[in-house]
Amino acid sequence: MNEHHHQDPPSPMALRVKALETLLTERGVVDPEAVDAILDVYEHQVGPHNGARVVARAWTDPDFRERLLDDATAAIAELGFLGMQGEHMVALENTERVHNVVVCTLCSCYPWSVLGLPPAWYKSHAYRSRVVIEPRAVLREFGLDVPERVAVRVWDSTAELRYLVVPRRPAGTGHLDEEALAALVTRDSMVGTAVLPDVTGGTGT
Ligand code: FE
Repeated sequence: MNEHHHQDPPSPMALRVKALETLLTERGVVDPEAVDAILDVYEHQVGPHNGARVVARAWTDPDFRERLLDDATAAIAELGFLGMQGEHMVALENTERVHNVVVCTLCSCYPWSVLGLPPAWYKSHAYRSRVVIEPRAVLREFGLDVPERVAVRVWDSTAELRYLVVPRRPAGTGHLDEEALAALVTRDSMVGTAVLPDVTGGTGT
């Protein structure tokens, strides 16, 4: 998205975090290697590819889909995606009639275990304040024009409850297996700020 790769000056928050980390490290409260290890897990090992596997399983396994919609925490645990900030999950299924979008109006609660770390826009004040007031306008800015016949539902995450949107399975993917389907699922489609394009040239659903 950002093609310039310029280095922005660190934000006041980043500077405060760095100062705090330095202080805690100096006093022996925090082991910087442990902090790095945790960051590595959430930056590289855990990410939207986990959520994509949940979605692809829901598309291909009706029983799993039912369990996911009934108790997402348990269903996601079946696939082994446990851990920080994924303890209480709810899955929201997009349909012909309903499009779901997720925000945390208070801060930036996000389902780390299935989506990794939240993108900058998710944490931005503009997104957090505006998506609840004018969701269709915000979604249009993401390039997503939700038709008027489709209701838009906005879900406010909390530290106790986090959401995973199950996007609609694209048309033209009937021939794809679970792994190939998972490769189609994007992070933003699981937050609800995007939908998945139909696949052309397939053999139909
Ligand atoms: Fe939050």
